[in-house]
Amino acid sequence: MGLVETEAIILRSYRLAEADKIVIGLTKGAGVVRGVAHGARRLKSKYGASLEPFTHVALQFYEKEGRELVSLRQVEILKSYFALAQNTEAVHALEYWSELVLEFAPPHEPNEKLFRMVKACVEALGEEPARIEACARYFEVWMLKLAGFLPDLRACAVCGRSFTEGESVYVNLEQRLRCAICSKRAGEEWSGQALTRMRMIRRLGPLEFAGANLDKESAVSQEMARITQRLIARALERTPRGQASFILAASEK
Ligand SMILES: [Zn+2]
Repeated sequence: MGLVETEAIILRSYRLAEADKIVIGLTKGAGVVRGVAHGARRLKSKYGASLEPFTHVALQFYEKEGRELVSLRQVEILKSYFALAQNTEAVHALEYWSELVLEFAPPHEPNEKLFRMVKACVEALGEEPARIEACARYFEVWMLKLAGFLPDLRACAVCGRSFTEGESVYVNLEQRLRCAICSKRAGEEWSGQALTRMRMIRRLGPLEFAGANLDKESAVSQEMARITQRLIARALERTPRGQASFILAASEK
């Protein structure tokens, strides 16, 4: 409680009354934080462009026991992404990512891994906006992993045998991966290639993963999108709003 200083990625901001803004940020030290930026809508606001979505900032805020909203004291830009904010697809992706963070991460619960992952994905998108599909898959797989909804990708949930490279797996209703023998090939089939890519995400940074997966139109890329988005919809027990607009934006190209 009291004054908190931490890094944050600005996820969303919206108007509050005449002159203020509500800002939602994912912070490194304090998890998801909703704060009031007093006077942020005034022309000569001290916040300038620091509250724009995607911006990586150094944040100072006051926290009060039992109060959900914090009061922003100072916001200093560490890195801005003006070009991304002009890119409709990137904005859709960020809205979708924000939605997932807000759904999966409880407010005020520090999660440094989540912060680092989101920051890395925003940076990757900033450097290579064309690799948006691969970045989105990367984000989805890590979000599932960090929220505890990613099934074990390495071994059969029934017999415990490690899957070999390229082996197809069969997924039951509990989202457990099983080999062909244990499952008798019943359940949703995931190709060995899709599985290999999902495992790659666990070891690589987002740009490394994107660089190794340039064929965004390929059947395996599409399969992977179906897999991750279905896992997310099942974990949330609904389809995220942003998923629809993001898929739409991606398929309009
Ligand atoms: Zn088995």
